[in-house]
Amino acid sequence: MTRPGSPDSRRPALMPLDDALSQLLAFAVPLADIDSVSTFEADGRVLAQNLVSALQVPPHDNSSMDGYAVRCLDVAQALQSTQPEAGTLPVSQRIAAGSSGVPLAPMTVARIFTGAPIPLGADAVVMQEDCEVLPGAGGPGSNAVRIKSVPAPGQWIRRAGEDVTQGAVVLSKGERLTPAALGLAASIGMNLLQVARRPRVALFSTGDELVMPGDVAPEQMKPGAIYNSNRFFLRALLQRLGCEVSDLGIVPDRLDATVAALQAAAQHHDLILTSGGVSVGEEDHIKPAVQSLGQLDLWQIAIKPGKPFAYGRVANAHFIGLPGNPVSSFVTFLLLVRPFLLKLQGVTQGAIKSIAVPAHFTWARADKRREFLRVRRNAAGGLDLFANQSSGVLTSAVWGDGLVDNPPGQTIAFGDPVRFIPFSEIMG
Ligand code: AMP
Ligand code: MG
Repeated sequence: MTRPGSPDSRRPALMPLDDALSQLLAFAVPLADIDSVSTFEADGRVLAQNLVSALQVPPHDNSSMDGYAVRCLDVAQALQSTQPEAGTLPVSQRIAAGSSGVPLAPMTVARIFTGAPIPLGADAVVMQEDCEVLPGAGGPGSNAVRIKSVPAPGQWIRRAGEDVTQGAVVLSKGERLTPAALGLAASIGMNLLQVARRPRVALFSTGDELVMPGDVAPEQMKPGAIYNSNRFFLRALLQRLGCEVSDLGIVPDRLDATVAALQAAAQHHDLILTSGGVSVGEEDHIKPAVQSLGQLDLWQIAIKPGKPFAYGRVANAHFIGLPGNPVSSFVTFLLLVRPFLLKLQGVTQGAIKSIAVPAHFTWARADKRREFLRVRRNAAGGLDLFANQSSGVLTSAVWGDGLVDNPPGQTIAFGDPVRFIPFSEIMG
């Protein structure tokens, strides 16, 4: 395997994000196991099969309105009459959704409802609002309707197969299921879906300063202590990606404790994910601990926030170490860990989609790293910048609804188009 950023080099060169991502994805071999799950339970899971339709949807031509199914030529002929009742045709049958009619008798119409099959011989539907009903005028016990003009052939008819043709692949292996995709799968009769197994992820936070909310009240916090915030968003992000999370809590800043936590975590997990301790200070034990059990590379990625990042292996488990600063942790998860976990599930997604949106702010300080600025769309169609872009300010990620992907060395003038990545693209 490639070993980016040799662990021995004293000052490793900054690695471009795209290189880091492609190296990381090369390690993500898709999980072989497949789960068979109810379509009801499959939201967010990744398909492990192509879904081929055994039927066409809709199965038959059907009405998209409540009204009358007609044959256009018959309406034209009825309208040629010089009698006051010109355009009047008797109602010869009634077809509700769920039933099927009989061929339309000549010079008659069929009462029809939305979703009901178009009877043979009819070639348009006239909606009931455009018909005058003449009660009892269609012969004993039946009505007639008067239609004022000849409809266009095909009017208000939904064609058989216009959604799905028989034999079509409606969803492909490797696609992530959305609520709409579940509906589409159901529309072709699928009640069970083959999906990739959930990745099993062990999560722990490092840092002696960390305290769990609930364990110590705010007014009792000792000097230097902070609440563990990373644990909450990382766990939620993992769950949104379909992972089974084993939350191992906080591991103290000691080599033995870190080694023990890693050993336990490597047992039954595909990935061990940690936050903090990936720098090379004396209190950063992740590197020696992982190296004592397996292997680890520390990467210095040319992004801001989120420079330090670690990838390695402990026994059969992947290891990813995220930076401790909350926004760095959050952003590196979205940019690197998310595609990694999706690939483990068989997703072969392309690059993250960004859209060009005008900046309604200025950014005068160019950085040599590629920056991911927390911004929010405004009502004028532009982007506002959160004032404090520090990697410790988690408020920026809550206030913002996405990131500006700003290339290295780039300043931004008010009105410049910038690359905007909505959180909705990368959060689920
Ligand atoms: P480290 O990467 O361990 O040097 O941590 C960098 C910064 O992130 C320090 O200010 C830590 O206190 C902070 N930090 C580390 N882990 C967490 C966490 N789980 N929640 C909140 N802040 C953290
Ligand atoms: Mg630390």
